[in-house]
Amino acid sequence: MFDIGANLTSSRFSDDLDGVLSDSLAAGVEKICITSSNLEDVKNAKKITERYENTYYSVGFHPHNAKDFKVEHLKDIAAHFNDPKAICLGEMGLDFNRNFSSKEEQILCFESQLDLADSIIKPLFLHQRDAHREFLDILDNYKFNQNQIVHCFTGNLFELEDYLKRDFYIGITGWVCDLKRGKELRECIKHIPEDKLLIETDSPYLSPRKKIRRNEPKFLIDVAAEIALLRKETKESIMNSSFENSLNFFNLHR
Ligand SMILES: [Zn+2]
Repeated sequence: MFDIGANLTSSRFSDDLDGVLSDSLAAGVEKICITSSNLEDVKNAKKITERYENTYYSVGFHPHNAKDFKVEHLKDIAAHFNDPKAICLGEMGLDFNRNFSSKEEQILCFESQLDLADSIIKPLFLHQRDAHREFLDILDNYKFNQNQIVHCFTGNLFELEDYLKRDFYIGITGWVCDLKRGKELRECIKHIPEDKLLIETDSPYLSPRKKIRRNEPKFLIDVAAEIALLRKETKESIMNSSFENSLNFFNLHR
């Protein structure tokens, strides 16, 4: 399996990252893309990928951190892509759910990174919460050749339709295991084309196991199993197809 989004730079992993990564490997997670959310995070993610094989990282500014973003940061972001382990631009987007940064700051931060995307030619790792319309209005001003994913998709069928029309990949987390909060998402699962579905944990958040608070990449299997149940497919087929899709999305080889 490929965990396409794990926040392994979180302080909640600082004491036992070795164990977390060996456990995830034992649980069948062959590759992980570490999500970064600002430039400090990028440095830490890069360090982790230097120590562990088959780990990669994203480079970008999360909308929560948009208040710290400056246009001068774009050249630092671009410079990181000399590293073959830096495999996507993001995570970036809009999050009007908690508004840790103002809407104006978020839009500037998002658009600035999208302006850069043309010259980077790496896939785009996108985040959207409670900002569907504004998010699409911005993206529709651009025409990209690279792949794009809406990671941690938690929306409804109408939103899914909007993304599929634009040929986006869809990332599914343990949100799908939550019968109540994930109700609408669960209805969407069988409508995602097989070649567009990717899986992720978003560790340490969104644990698929009620009694375990800290999520880890080793629980990715729960996400695959739940999707399999909803699509009436085998767990193995979801594991295989999502892995292949991830390689395609990131333009990686085995
Ligand atoms: Zn996100």
